[in-house]
Amino acid sequence: MKKITVLISLWLTVTAFFSCEKKGEAKHKPQTFDKEVQDLLKNMSLEEKAGQMTQIDIRNLLTNGYGNTDEKLDTARLKEAIQTYHVGSILNCIQAYTPGKWIELVSQIQNEALKAPNKIPVIYGTDAVHGVGFMQGAVIFPHNIGLAATRNNTLIQQSAQVTAKEARAVGLTWNFAPVLDVGREPYWSRFEETFGEDVYITTQMGRAAVTGMEGSDLTSKNTVASCMKHFIGYSAPKNGIDRTPSHIPEIILREYYLPPFKEAIEAGASTIMINSAEINGIPCHGNKWLLTDLLRTELGFQGLVCSDWEDVIRLHAWHKIAATPKDAVMIAVNAGVDMSMVPNDYSFPKYVVELVNEGKISKARIDEAVGRILTLKLKLGLMKNPLPSIADIGVIGSEAHQQVTLNAARESITLLKNEKTILPLTKDKKILLVGPTAHSLSALHSSWSYTWQGVNQSLYPGSIQTMKQAIVSIAGNATIKTNASAAFTDAANYDVAFIQKNAAASDVIVICLGEDAYAEQPGVIKDLNLPAAQKQLIVAAKKTGKPVIVCLVEGRPRLFPEEELLTDAVVMCYRPGSKGAQAIAEVLFGEINPSGKLPFTYPRYDGDITTYDHKFKETEQQLAPGVSEFVAFNPQWTFGHGLSYTSFSYSNLKVDRSTFTKSDSIQVRVDVANTGDRTGKVSVELYSRDHYASITPSEKRLRKYTKIELKAGEKQTVSFTIKASDLQFVNKELVTVTEAGAFDLMVENLRTEIHFNE
Ligand code: BGC
Repeated sequence: MKKITVLISLWLTVTAFFSCEKKGEAKHKPQTFDKEVQDLLKNMSLEEKAGQMTQIDIRNLLTNGYGNTDEKLDTARLKEAIQTYHVGSILNCIQAYTPGKWIELVSQIQNEALKAPNKIPVIYGTDAVHGVGFMQGAVIFPHNIGLAATRNNTLIQQSAQVTAKEARAVGLTWNFAPVLDVGREPYWSRFEETFGEDVYITTQMGRAAVTGMEGSDLTSKNTVASCMKHFIGYSAPKNGIDRTPSHIPEIILREYYLPPFKEAIEAGASTIMINSAEINGIPCHGNKWLLTDLLRTELGFQGLVCSDWEDVIRLHAWHKIAATPKDAVMIAVNAGVDMSMVPNDYSFPKYVVELVNEGKISKARIDEAVGRILTLKLKLGLMKNPLPSIADIGVIGSEAHQQVTLNAARESITLLKNEKTILPLTKDKKILLVGPTAHSLSALHSSWSYTWQGVNQSLYPGSIQTMKQAIVSIAGNATIKTNASAAFTDAANYDVAFIQKNAAASDVIVICLGEDAYAEQPGVIKDLNLPAAQKQLIVAAKKTGKPVIVCLVEGRPRLFPEEELLTDAVVMCYRPGSKGAQAIAEVLFGEINPSGKLPFTYPRYDGDITTYDHKFKETEQQLAPGVSEFVAFNPQWTFGHGLSYTSFSYSNLKVDRSTFTKSDSIQVRVDVANTGDRTGKVSVELYSRDHYASITPSEKRLRKYTKIELKAGEKQTVSFTIKASDLQFVNKELVTVTEAGAFDLMVENLRTEIHFNE
């Protein structure tokens, strides 16, 4: 009996073991490739395949290193990269070149690739995250945080189209964008690259960016391959510091961070880049569950997975989950990384070859990775058409493209405060203009602009205006008194005495504050508060008795709760790009009626960073027994806030039915009227609130938005369709569900109730 029991339990264990293994295998079905790809794979040596999986930084191939606009490719090093190591991809992230120089560099690289036996062109990758930031003459858009404030998906799509066209014109066929990290941690130094804190906005705008970049035919001169990044959870570092660990329970990961990637995959995004950091103790580059089970099997992604900068080797060097650099390669490739942004040596392909020969990485895994890379090159038409043509560069920086970035900047500017309608200013006002962002180009652009950090102002084209120049060109020199200096840290920009001396002769003081440019780790801060030297400008200005207008040029909310009380108007400008100064000046003088809405909650205090979609009671505290409840959700400005120079009123929020099921939908209508005296645009936003659910529902969630324009006195009925899937959430079992019950639908101050029956 005992023997039988032992045998049975042994059998059960073995079966369980195998069924687990089988489950794992069944989970990930091998990908099949077109005949052309299969034929190429058959002709390639293991070394060539490992080379295709390798991406290196162009600076390794340049004669003068980087930082020199007159760099040339070193022919011997180029030959070594292509003919000896067979590299499949090259990137750059340091230096901006002219279009002509780009054509020269890319053509030289492709011509070298065409000399190789298999003639497989290189795919060139660049970070054109808000326009082709590494090309002189390209238009630079507002960063995503500003684009999100426009609430205008068409503008996002158009911006992506322009970026794609300008990149493709010089042979840059792969764009490391859009950033789909949801910006729920304002400390994070890449907050400006996100579409803000809301999942729905990020999902919608991410889709618009992907379709704008990729179009319907990647061989077209108007398109590039997009790259969703950074999969996943990069934007939620526990301590706010870039590239540090996140703790994200799966239920939260699926609710807040996954939907933008899911949507972008459905929209046809060709590639994805992995989060450099770790989630819940597992570095993403070594997480097979993330890169294979979730991404491939569950989300069905068939495109290319690339690592972020140096992140394969960092599984050894930083994360310590690999005892040697070679083990790091084994872990990453087996987890699902198809291409490594190495980027500075040829260790990766060498280790790949050794690991395959040692049986530690399967040949099938290599063929799968390389199959995806070759498929992308074919999709892009690179095999037939590898060379860029000088005839195409006319589109770069064209008038039409400039207009798109100007429109985007205009719709992004967000009027946060306007006491006694101090704004708009009349042109006869005498303006005292001060502060570190008043004459700064770098603050207007920030990361990925002419350089990685965007700080080198000598590289910015002379044609781009600063705020000082834009204000002068609208209002004329005579009315402006300023000592603003281009260098952010210049003492003149913090000169309180200048304010005291010149205030009497001025009608109004415009103080331009915020942050200089930064990207990634160099942008890490330990305090969200505006630096004291900036705050004191507000204090000094207030003391003069003149009206105080603050313009914030910044990539994340910098706090000034006490000094905000001393201001009359506050204008949020984000990182508005190459036409940003013009757009801000137009808003200040009322040539443009502001219509941006905050895409994040602007905290009042460092110790109270709460998103608008917080849980019930999350923000309420009992001060002490017997003391009435104190509502602590008290941000400086909440998500969705944004004023206009006109006023809007909302009425008649109606639904065509109050109960619905999975098989039907609800039409929601609301009347919006412009009750002021000038034309204005407004984003009409529909929120929902789930009355009861099996997990605590959010206080409210944005479900739909649409931007309309109304003339003074005009009224429009706006309608939205609500389906069951619009009200879904991730439940305890990690399943996305819509539960039966009552929901509020809310537009501004209006509310109506609907019921969902399963
Ligand atoms: C960033 C990526 C970027 C890559 C290449 C990394 O440091 O995290 O977003 O695409 O560099 O420039």
